[in-house]
Amino acid sequence: MSRFLSKKLSALEAYVPGEQPKVKKFIKLNTNESPYPPPKCVADAVGKREIEELRLYSDPECTALKTKLADLYGVKEKNLFLSNGSDEILNFAFMAYGESGAVFPDITYGFYSVFADLYGLNTEIVPLNDDFTVNIDAFCGKNKLVVLANPNAPTGIALGLSEIEKIVSSNRDGIVIVDEAYVDFGAQSAYRLTEKYDNLLVVQTYSKSRSMAGARLGFAFANENIIEDLEKIKYSTNPYNINRITQIAGAAALVNQEYFDENCRKIAETREYVKEELKKTGFTVTDSVANFLFAKSDKISGSKLYTALKERGILIRHFEAERIKDYNRITVGSREEMGIFLDAVRKILGGIV
Ligand SMILES: *Cc1c(COP(=O)(O)O)cnc(C)c1O
Repeated sequence: MSRFLSKKLSALEAYVPGEQPKVKKFIKLNTNESPYPPPKCVADAVGKREIEELRLYSDPECTALKTKLADLYGVKEKNLFLSNGSDEILNFAFMAYGESGAVFPDITYGFYSVFADLYGLNTEIVPLNDDFTVNIDAFCGKNKLVVLANPNAPTGIALGLSEIEKIVSSNRDGIVIVDEAYVDFGAQSAYRLTEKYDNLLVVQTYSKSRSMAGARLGFAFANENIIEDLEKIKYSTNPYNINRITQIAGAAALVNQEYFDENCRKIAETREYVKEELKKTGFTVTDSVANFLFAKSDKISGSKLYTALKERGILIRHFEAERIKDYNRITVGSREEMGIFLDAVRKILGGIV
């Protein structure tokens, strides 16, 4: 840290992303990426001509991409916001709507507390119930910035639409962010509720179900006034926030929605298979409807399992937080990768009993 950094930022603890190994070839089950590549139409759309066009700025309005997304979801373009990864939308929303404070669960996406600290917000942390479900009533009537991942991460547990609506309708004087990064793997989206509630912001991403984490593309649904706020921040920070290649790739990907639906179905099937196999080996596993499992063994600590798997070339995500330090988050990869993972787990456990 230099001696010039503002006092406000010197105490900030940055978000720590999952490892992205550069040397050894790992089976990567640690950052919830898709095991499947984007569909062929994406590669076809990003051709040599597009590379030459990189000399030009990207379209700050993302017209072509926005039109296609609006079409697919049956919403108006003025109710859509596009961003450089969905983290950027979360950043903007914390910047814009946190003045009266922010509320989120103790166990959830680690970036929320970083954004809250970055903007110096008063933060209220609501513990999840003992079974890691969200205590709905504790999020009602707050009238502050309420932030919920649905399904939640790293538990994978989802709230139903009526529960989300209960929270949104009881917080009419505060924005409710529903972060749906994993919604396509088996939960219900709340995006339609943005037509009814002017305090709801529903955030989604291409990073997980659409196999494009590296393209950095997020989108959000909300009342047009909220979209205007977000646009204002975007045009005050980085008007060309989505690069040309990503806009083209993002639009092309939507042509083949069936491909993504099929991938989500396969991933959900693999998830249920791995969950049952882990349970047979004595693991406690939450009822995840996301593309990851959250599991704890009665035979080995979370950090030991993490290390032993890493030595065998398999990366999973371990968290140090007290309440979940016995658990690990395991991305659901391809059936083949998960076979190798399960074999390794059985060998590791076999070696210690
Ligand atoms: C992965 C993830 C995101 C961020 O996704 P990007 O679009 O890649 O920035 C947001 N929220 C949650 C809960 C996530 O797990």
